[in-house]
Amino acid sequence: MSLPLVAVVGRPNVGKSTFVNRIAQADEAIVHSMRGVTRDRSYHESEWNGVKFTLVDTGGIEMGGEDDFQASIRHQAFVAAEQADAIVFLVDGKTGINADDAEVARILRKTDKPVFLVVNKLDTPGRTDEIWEFYQLGIGDPWPVSAVHGHGTGDLLDEVVVALQKAVAGRELSGTLDTGVNVAIIGRPNAGKSSLTNKLTGNDRSIVSDVAGTTRDAIDTYIEHEGKAYTIVDTAGLRRKSQIDEDVEYYGFVRAMRAIDRADVALLVIDGTLGLTDQDQRVARFAADRGCAMVIVLNKWDIVEGPEAKAEVRERIQDRLMFVGYAPVVAISALTGKNIQRIWDAIDTSYANFRKTIPTNQLNTWLQGIREFGHTVSHGKAMLRMKYVTQTGTCPPVFTFFANRPDLVDDNYERYLENRLREHFDLEGTPVRMKFKKKD
Ligand code: GDP
Ligand code: GDP
Repeated sequence: MSLPLVAVVGRPNVGKSTFVNRIAQADEAIVHSMRGVTRDRSYHESEWNGVKFTLVDTGGIEMGGEDDFQASIRHQAFVAAEQADAIVFLVDGKTGINADDAEVARILRKTDKPVFLVVNKLDTPGRTDEIWEFYQLGIGDPWPVSAVHGHGTGDLLDEVVVALQKAVAGRELSGTLDTGVNVAIIGRPNAGKSSLTNKLTGNDRSIVSDVAGTTRDAIDTYIEHEGKAYTIVDTAGLRRKSQIDEDVEYYGFVRAMRAIDRADVALLVIDGTLGLTDQDQRVARFAADRGCAMVIVLNKWDIVEGPEAKAEVRERIQDRLMFVGYAPVVAISALTGKNIQRIWDAIDTSYANFRKTIPTNQLNTWLQGIREFGHTVSHGKAMLRMKYVTQTGTCPPVFTFFANRPDLVDDNYERYLENRLREHFDLEGTPVRMKFKKKD
């Protein structure tokens, strides 16, 4: 196996070469023959606390005009995010943040690799007032260093090699493990995500790992429940020690988005005592757009008092989450464990429907009924006639309809078809996609 890779990224002059030269063992760059070596990167073999790794200095990119410059910074960050096991994002503590730093940060916020935000040129140890502004980048806690003098680099490397060991272990682990259904637990801070994760993973054989996924913002637990494999992704995960209050919501949203991108089924946990918030709605919409299956979890039901309050919460959800009307709503108490079994059932149903394939003959028998009894759309003399339907995709299911005038299909009609489809076939928990093509 090749050595783990650490990419050093950042705009010109922040001190990337100085940093790499301090850490790399030899002055000369070692040119690797195996990996895609291009002229814009140099590879350096390094070692810390007995862990060997390769440092990639992405600094030598030739800069063109203004546009090329932005493009090359983006390119550099993408390549790092793609290939590296850990990323050192270097910024300049003397000049502060500029637009290029912000651009790199924007890209790195999306990666699930560990990213270390390193504030260089802080030559006086202990004088770290300068680091505060760098929290704005949304990459987490900044590490103050001086690449010239070496201050701070040891502490940083201690953490970097821990992250690398996890990455390597994660690669080995995910090679041998059935990760099964990926279930993301999302929702606002304090909604009860961790409590629910504990209840779901508590009684089963499980392996906790923060490696395969996101070391910084989620904890993956691989479990086997009633003979089936699941990965439970808890986005409450590792709370950062010095998180600023206003940013909690923002980070929560970023975490939820990343978890949803990997998820088969998203469990949206709502605090039943507070009801639905705008953030819940945003997260639900994101999950629907991404096409993952969804279960809505009404938590803390043990302390929602009285049938009226309960009915009100449910009504509000029906109202404001209409666009995910397919998602089952399960009221539970993550504290007492009440109704946890229903969550398992809802996950299984939603996942099965997410992967479902409906035979073409059944679909066309259904369409026959729509043609005979259903309404259609017309425009002037032209009338929409549905000819044929077939499923053209899964996860989530995609149905392609062939019609004489697909241009006549409007949102209303599409909704009508989806509702009829859902009445006839069990598609609870999963979004569906519909396409319309012309056939005379
Ligand atoms: P790169 O373009 O990111 O590779 O940056 P370089 O490593 O070439 O450094 C750019 C400039 O910043 C050089 O003049 C370095 O001497 C200076 N520099 C780098 N690290 C430090 C540091 O820790 N403290 C100070 N004061 N200057 C530094
Ligand atoms: P997270 O931030 O979403 O992970 O939320 P936690 O799981 O840490 O829960 C936040 C708080 O709500 C904790 O004090 C929990 O004990 C409490 N809590 C979580 N679920 C329930 C529940 O079902 N009923 C009650 N009464 N409290 C709960």
